[in-house]
Amino acid sequence: MNHSVESTTPVYTLSTTSTLSGIPVHSIRQYVDRGLIIPFRKETNRNLFSQVDILRLKYIHKLLVEDGLNIAGIRSVLALIPCWSIRKCSAEEREKCQAYHSDSNPCWEASEKGKLCKNTNCRECEVYRIVENYPDVKSYLKTLSA
Ligand code: SF4
Repeated sequence: MNHSVESTTPVYTLSTTSTLSGIPVHSIRQYVDRGLIIPFRKETNRNLFSQVDILRLKYIHKLLVEDGLNIAGIRSVLALIPCWSIRKCSAEEREKCQAYHSDSNPCWEASEKGKLCKNTNCRECEVYRIVENYPDVKSYLKTLSA
């Protein structure tokens, strides 16, 4: 699924995003606080969301409401994405990176990151955006062994 520039442009406020997605404002805030989604942050510290962010929010909400996962479970699912392999980190970098060792935090939540990641905006990163391009993490993992 390729998204147009428009669909990734952050234009919606929190309350509009809530209306468009059907997800309560307090739930969206919680997903942001727990690192499930990285909104675009304006200088004023207000969060903005794009159409693609709304799809991501709906995916997270479905995992919680229909599939019975909790937030810690979703974080663990996202932690399974092999960012070190996608970004081709060296063995040395992997050893120093918390994302490589953690089984409970998505890589963008890692406190210690490798050189490559320190200089990347996670919101723009292909690893963070996998959820936008596949209906679920497992369908992505299947492509690795195809
Ligand atoms: S840049 Fe961020 S999202 Fe991408 S692999 Fe590194 S920590 Fe993960």
